[in-house]
Amino acid sequence: MNTTGTGISGPSEAEIAEGLRAYDLDREHVFHSWSAQASLKPMTVTKTEGPFVWDGEGRRLLDFSSQMVNTNIGHQHPAVVQAIRDQAEKICTIAPSHVNAARSEAARLIAELAPGDLNHIFFTNGGADANEHAIRMARLHTGRRKVLSAYRSYHGGTELAVNVTGDPRRFANDHGDAGVAHFMPAYPYRSYFNSTSETEETQRALRHLEDVILLEGPQTIAAIILETVPGTAGIYLPPPGYLQGVRELADRYGIVYIADEVMAGFGRTGAWFAVEHWDVRPDLMTFAKGVNSGYVPLGGVAISEAIYQTFAERPYPGGLTYSGHPLACAAAVATIQTMTSEKMVDNAAHLGTDIFGPGLQEIAERHPSVGDVRGLGCFWAIELVKNRDTKEPLAEYGGSSPEMNELIGALKAAGMLPFANFNRIHVAPPLNLTDEQAREGLEIIDTALTVADAHTV
Ligand code: PLP
Repeated sequence: MNTTGTGISGPSEAEIAEGLRAYDLDREHVFHSWSAQASLKPMTVTKTEGPFVWDGEGRRLLDFSSQMVNTNIGHQHPAVVQAIRDQAEKICTIAPSHVNAARSEAARLIAELAPGDLNHIFFTNGGADANEHAIRMARLHTGRRKVLSAYRSYHGGTELAVNVTGDPRRFANDHGDAGVAHFMPAYPYRSYFNSTSETEETQRALRHLEDVILLEGPQTIAAIILETVPGTAGIYLPPPGYLQGVRELADRYGIVYIADEVMAGFGRTGAWFAVEHWDVRPDLMTFAKGVNSGYVPLGGVAISEAIYQTFAERPYPGGLTYSGHPLACAAAVATIQTMTSEKMVDNAAHLGTDIFGPGLQEIAERHPSVGDVRGLGCFWAIELVKNRDTKEPLAEYGGSSPEMNELIGALKAAGMLPFANFNRIHVAPPLNLTDEQAREGLEIIDTALTVADAHTV
């Protein structure tokens, strides 16, 4: 791969040796997420910097996954590393009941960026517990129990969050007792409503959602939780008017609208929060990942004035030891300040509009295996198919396939760490990627896709 403009050295021999020992220890003692343990062959990472990671052999890969789509400012940003160091020297940890400067400032900055009157911040350790708490708040606020969420969604791995989730990770964890009902999302490429235009998709998906609300009983429904742009589930953009329609339905039936911005938030889509693109104001908004690029675990719920008032005089029955952890909050403050001063959100918008959008469109035209490309900012999906007319996916829903594995192998061999899910490759690099690096990434994808083309019929 071209090594344009980095001049960054790879891992040292000692780091490579450390990686080899780490691999053996990992296989002996580490239990991995979402995996059958015995057959795993995880990649060792020996070094990270900016948009790059180095594997166990010291090979550099352009990180187009941002790991779990969380390193929005890239790896090892010196400003954030320094802020964590500085905070560690001051106060490493303090109970959530006390006031702490890093926590107060992080809350102020997030409230300032959040839309509408989301002025109070409850901090959690990550995205799943943020959603759990948002749902608890909605239930107590409305006095209702049921939650509506979309199929083809992901909201986290904890018991309630995974039941709210609408992807196959729910199946093995679903006991049907979490008070959750699912509805069909607006998904223009594979419309569940046989729509032939985005306008039709919006109208029909909203009609369906209203039917679900009426059939489930509006008086039983506490919340609708929706990823503003569903992430792992496929980066399918809500068609114009859809989210406004959801907002109106929530208002009409007294339901709390929770926007899950865990993956789409903090600049990923070229706006601080994705709801800004569609000008909607949720009652609760959850975040994690990009809030501090995951340098220290952090998530949270941004709370509207009305819901805050429910707990103004009555205690909120929930909390956690590390709510607003100073190291995590100091990392959030530095991340937000750095993203602002280095104009990373604008850069994400520019990359989406000027490079990824047109570049992926051209790639789609050249490769018969590409059924659809869609996204915005630094958040794009390439949906792979065996046949463009039938839209038969290159891997079935919930699974992988030898063809997809071949494509992922080709991307890695060409120097890219991709984000792959079922029949999709996602383009989710850090937001401070240079134009040159973005083009380099597209070239790798363009070349690797010939492997997928060979499987089209
Ligand atoms: N919500 C969304 C949209 C996510 O993408 C994720 C994680 O990928 C979560 C919630 C769960 O976040 P966490 O893994 O930090 O618990």
